[in-house]
Amino acid sequence: MNYFFNEEEQMMIDVARKIAQEKIKPVREKYDEEETFPWDIVKELAQADLCGVYIPEEYGGFGKGIMGLVLVTEELCKVDGGIALALAATALGTLPILVAGNEAQKQKYLPDIASGKKLAAFGLTEPSAGSDATSMKTTAVKDGDYYILNGTKCFITNAGDAETYTVFAKTNPSRGARGISCFILEKGMEGFTFGKKENKMGIRASSTRELIFNNCRVHKDNLLGKEGHGLMIAQATLDGSRPGVASQALGIAAGALEEAVKYARTRVQFGQPISSFQGIQHMLADMATKVEAARSLVYNVARTIDENNKREEKDKVRTSKESAMAKLFASEVAMEVTTHAVQIFGGYGYCKEYPVEKMMRDAKITTLYEGTSQIQKNEIALNLIKEYATGK
Ligand SMILES: Cc1cc2nc3c(=O)[nH]c(=O)nc-3n(C[C@H](O)[C@H](O)[C@H](O)COP(=O)(O)OP(=O)(O)OC[C@H]3O[C@@H](n4cnc5c(N)ncnc54)[C@H](O)[C@@H]3O)c2cc1C
Repeated sequence: MNYFFNEEEQMMIDVARKIAQEKIKPVREKYDEEETFPWDIVKELAQADLCGVYIPEEYGGFGKGIMGLVLVTEELCKVDGGIALALAATALGTLPILVAGNEAQKQKYLPDIASGKKLAAFGLTEPSAGSDATSMKTTAVKDGDYYILNGTKCFITNAGDAETYTVFAKTNPSRGARGISCFILEKGMEGFTFGKKENKMGIRASSTRELIFNNCRVHKDNLLGKEGHGLMIAQATLDGSRPGVASQALGIAAGALEEAVKYARTRVQFGQPISSFQGIQHMLADMATKVEAARSLVYNVARTIDENNKREEKDKVRTSKESAMAKLFASEVAMEVTTHAVQIFGGYGYCKEYPVEKMMRDAKITTLYEGTSQIQKNEIALNLIKEYATGK
């Protein structure tokens, strides 16, 4: 399919592809095995100006919006779905500042993220508040010009390695969903530490840790938006970031498809390449069709979000349903395609010597984080029914 990329989009794709092939591919196994954070690759991405592709130019970014983010993420994830997360999860942690930050907050935090000097992370999930984020227990109690944060966040990507954190806490527990607020925290603040690091099935080059707040004092200047607007900020963030997860899934699936086609053309059984068997051909055909369908959904929603951001508030269209659709579809496709890729590799596909084993492990997370597949379906159905009920 030709998506008629403009010159800048094509340039971003080419640069990301070069880094993926030349810098990431040779080390992906090592990072997966050792579970270490890929700082040398982050440096490469920073030098190539890819860390701020989605950040507006006035804050030091490349200004290419969510489309820029998904194109770069897809290319990197074709080779490794975990290493690319240093960038993609930073985008997730940065979006609340883009969505709700005031000018001073944007000027203070965005340039260092855009340059790759600092990474970011997004702290929403808690041990007893996953899909139901509103049941979070972390509190932020006002004390003069400060808020005092107490609680624990779990499963936070980039935690410990990032410098900037957007964290959600209850400022008014009696108001339920309307009592949640969002704060910017910095690594090193008193009362802010990190807990256990998860030992994961896939995306092992990405760090996943707890955030622990023990009477952590945060100045009111670090409140994002208004008190009580946290859940709206989280929703707007996820609407923008789910296409990013979808592009991670898309990249992993596209990478696995490529490996499967290459292998099928060279593996000989019964005196002929296995690509000549119709059973294999049909698998490849299904894989390719689903990857392309996922790509169309991802690009379309990314372009819609970017177009929306140029519009006046009254002219904006909602994209929650479409973002959820892209994430749901692409992540389920990633699982299906990587599983088929392992099948096409036969027993070799089950061994770490070949990349599809890792791709299958990496793909699974895309059906889980930023809302599981079941939660995406809830979101899609809710919006669909509302559209019919209200006629818009
Ligand atoms: C590697 C990794 C990285 C992560 N990174 C981050 C991060 O950076 N920041 C962050 O805030 N969080 C992060 N998360 C957390 C992630 O978003 C949550 O794990 C996810 O939202 C699911 O929450 P849970 O694990 O508590 O599952 P639960 O909510 O307990 O869900 C368990 C099962 O019940 C189903 N279920 C729950 N509610 C419903 C419902 N209403 N209808 C139908 N089915 C339902 C789910 O689909 C799932 O199958 C990360 C998680 C992992 C594993």
